[in-house]
Amino acid sequence: MRYISTRGAAAPLEFEDVLLEGLARDGGLYVPESWPTISPDEIAAMADWPYEKVAQRIMQPFVPAELAEALPGIIEKAYGTFRSDAVTPMISLGGIQDGLHLMELFHGPTLAFKDVAMQVLGGLFEHVLAKRDERVTIIGATSGDTGSAAIEAVRGRERARIFILHPHGRTSDVQRKQMTTVDAPNVFNIALEGTFDDCQNLLKAMFNDETFRDRVSMSGVNSINWARLMPQIVYYFIAALKLHGPDAATKPTSFSVPTGNFGDIYAGYAAAKMGLPVERLVIASNQNDILTRVMNTGEHTLGPVAKTIAPSMDIQISSNFERLMFDMLGRDGGAVAQKMSQLKDDGTFTLPEASLDTVRGLFGAHRADEQETLDAMKRAHDVTGELLDPHTAIGVVAALADMQSHPSESSTPMVVLGTAHPAKFPAAVERATGQTPPLPEFLGDLYEREERYDVLPNDLAAVQAYVAERV
Ligand SMILES: *Cc1c(COP(=O)(O)O)cnc(C)c1O
Repeated sequence: MRYISTRGAAAPLEFEDVLLEGLARDGGLYVPESWPTISPDEIAAMADWPYEKVAQRIMQPFVPAELAEALPGIIEKAYGTFRSDAVTPMISLGGIQDGLHLMELFHGPTLAFKDVAMQVLGGLFEHVLAKRDERVTIIGATSGDTGSAAIEAVRGRERARIFILHPHGRTSDVQRKQMTTVDAPNVFNIALEGTFDDCQNLLKAMFNDETFRDRVSMSGVNSINWARLMPQIVYYFIAALKLHGPDAATKPTSFSVPTGNFGDIYAGYAAAKMGLPVERLVIASNQNDILTRVMNTGEHTLGPVAKTIAPSMDIQISSNFERLMFDMLGRDGGAVAQKMSQLKDDGTFTLPEASLDTVRGLFGAHRADEQETLDAMKRAHDVTGELLDPHTAIGVVAALADMQSHPSESSTPMVVLGTAHPAKFPAAVERATGQTPPLPEFLGDLYEREERYDVLPNDLAAVQAYVAERV
C-alpha cells in the first residue's frame, strides 16, 4: 500500500515512512492511495472473532508484509493494558431512545479513546525503529487527551523521546496531571501560553521547518499521522458485529462521534469505504462548531476558540477534515492546496455545493451547547444510571438530533462513541448529576503525584530551542 499527500506535491510513501514522517513535506496529510475492501463473506465470518483478530485483519492490508507478521504481537501487547477483555465494550442506552447504544472506548491507561490507537502506535514505532536502528523525537500538540495517551505509549521506550505541548491552564486538572506526573527520562511537557490551535500551529511550523525537522529527527503522533487513524477503523467493525452478528455484512449501523480534529470520525468514513454498511456518520460538535457550519453551509470560516466543558473538542482548525476534502474535491491535491492557502490568507474558504451534497448523504452534523450537554448528562444518569463524560454526552445530543431529522432510518441502530471516562471530567459530571465519578483504582493517587512541566511563550523559536537543547 502506498500513501499519497492530500496536497499532491509530496512524493508517495510506504507505510513505515508515513508512520515516522507524520505530516507530508508539502504540508498535506497522507491517505491510502486506494481503499482495501473486506468482502461481505469476510465481514460475516468475523462475527465471533475476538477484538485482536478483527484488528489484525483490518490493519494488515495497510502495512507491508514484514510488519503484518509482527502485528499480532503488537496488538496483543497494546490491548493487554486495557481494563476490559472486550477492549471496547458496548452498552444499551435504550432507556433514552430505542436503538441507541454506547460503545465505551475509554478502558485504556489514560481513560480516553485515544489509547486505542496510541498503544498500537507505540508498538509500531518500537518495531520499525529497532529494525532501522534509528531514533526519533516525537513532538505533539494536545487539547488534553492526546498528550497523556502519547506519553503513556512512548514512556520508557529507548528509541523515542517525546515533547508534548498543551495550552497552559486550558486542560482539566486530571488531564494535565496524567501528562505531567509521568516520571520517565524521555518525556517532556511544555505548557504553552496560548490555545490548542496555537499549539497545533507551532507543531505544524516545526514540521514545515525542514532543517529543524531533520536535525532532531522529528516525528508526530497527532491524528494527522495516518498510523493513528488506522487502529480506529477497527471499532466501527466491532460495533456493527456486536449489534448484527454475521448480518453486519448487510445490515447498516449509524454512528455519532464527538469530534474535534475529525480523526475518529474519519476512521468511520474509512470503515465505510472498506465495505462496512454505515448509514449515518454524525459529527457531534460543541460550541466550537466549524464542522457543523461547513457541513450545513459549505463555508469554512475560522472563529475564535471558545473554552467549553468538553475541552478535547475546543478546536477551530480541524486538521483531518482535509482528508475528507481531498475526496470531496475529486482527489485533486492542487485544489486542496489552494483551499488551504486561502484559509491561511483569508481565514475562510467555500466548498462546492455538488461535493457537499455527496457527503451529506453519509454525514450529519449537529452542535450541542453547554446546557444541552449538561441536560443530556443528567438525563442519561436519571434514566439509565450511567455517568457520561461531557464529550460523550455531546455525542448523545447529536445522535438524537440526527435520528429525529432522519425518521426513515430510525430502524438502524445508532452507536454513540464514548470517548472519555466520566472521571476524566469530574467537575462537569458533578455539575450535571450531583455525582462525583471516582477515578479507577490504578489512578487513585494521581492528585498526590509530583508534576513536571515548563511554561513557554507562544513563540516558535523558543519552543524549537527548548527541544533542541534536550535532544
Ligand atoms: C480527542 C477527543 C475527541 C475528538 O476526537 P478527534 O479525533 O480529534 O475528532 C473527542 N472526545 C475526547 C474525549 C477526546 O479526547
